[in-house]
Amino acid sequence: MGRKVLVLAETRDGVLRNVSFEALSAAQKIAEGGEIAAAVFGQGISGVASQLAQYGANQVYLVEDENLKQYTPDAFTQATVQILAKVEPDVILLGHTAIGKDLAPRVAAKLGLGLISDATELALDGGEIIFTRPIYSGKAFQKKKIIDGKVFATIRPNNIALVEADPSRQAEEIAFPVEIKDLRTIVKEVARKAVGGVDLSEAKIVISGGRGVKSKEGFAPLQELADLLGGAVGASRGACDAEYCDYSLQIGQTGKVVTPDLYIACGISGAIQHLAGMSSSKVIVAINKDPEAPIFSVADYGIVGDLFEVVPMLTEELKHILK
Ligand code: FAD
Repeated sequence: MGRKVLVLAETRDGVLRNVSFEALSAAQKIAEGGEIAAAVFGQGISGVASQLAQYGANQVYLVEDENLKQYTPDAFTQATVQILAKVEPDVILLGHTAIGKDLAPRVAAKLGLGLISDATELALDGGEIIFTRPIYSGKAFQKKKIIDGKVFATIRPNNIALVEADPSRQAEEIAFPVEIKDLRTIVKEVARKAVGGVDLSEAKIVISGGRGVKSKEGFAPLQELADLLGGAVGASRGACDAEYCDYSLQIGQTGKVVTPDLYIACGISGAIQHLAGMSSSKVIVAINKDPEAPIFSVADYGIVGDLFEVVPMLTEELKHILK
């Protein structure tokens, strides 16, 4: 009879994040004929229901409340507890994003549920779900299964293969009012840095610069290559500490974790703390002057050379190919 899976979908500025579709794709894999529901929190969000249906949701709960316009731990925890009481899922999936990382442990602790965080793969083995997740900063992978009870799992973006969207699929849309009270935090205003472009944590191509980039201006050729390929620019902490770029670009143990299809590391030595954030990328290209740089040990393709020569050459060549 299958299991009931609830996906807590995440939006940003009213647009669903890709990881929500990945969570629905994972849900299709593990539901074994059971029901798949999705819940989305916010205000004026009904437009996203059809997309959730296309990726496999049978029911979409629209949890609209003015206190859910922006994420706050209090409001989202209360709303999640109420939706869980209604849906009674066996497994709850959400993205391993800033919100997912905050929300899942809060609700799991409050309700005494299990939590598997940062899952990179979900598979079935004799009817049991096997969750794979990285440990020791990505040096090893651990496999976990549910022994008893309900479980939360956060899904690392860009790891679960997307099912094909089926535009003919429809879901039952259910307005689900929640009661939110005693808020300790209220978001009055959100001031965002004008970064624009592709979201680094969900980018399929990341061009990263390290201390070898040498200056703020040194990032320009990397940005040009990223723009050409529709990718995002990232950085090592070395580059951020040197003030060549903003810390929001930092990839690694204390920065963002990315798993793009292609990661190009330019002038990055490959310290273990940096590898923790990118070593699961599908294809890694390293450009470094030093043939002994540790980054080459994780690279699929290594180019020993000056990034200021190699990157523009690569961009020019790709311009011809992509014309
Ligand atoms: P460097 O190690 O200085 O390497 C620069 C590289 O550029 C060298 O390999 C050099 O050969 C090459 N180079 C120079 N010029 C050129 C050129 N013209 N062309 C090509 N190559 C060139 N680091 C992170 O990145 N992310 C983290 O999240 C992170 N968290 C940390 C947490 C802790 C607790 C600690 C202690 C450290 C952390 N670090 C992190 C820092 C990490 O240890 C390294 O110091 C940092 O990654 C080094 O950055 P880098 O590779 O850019 O610089």
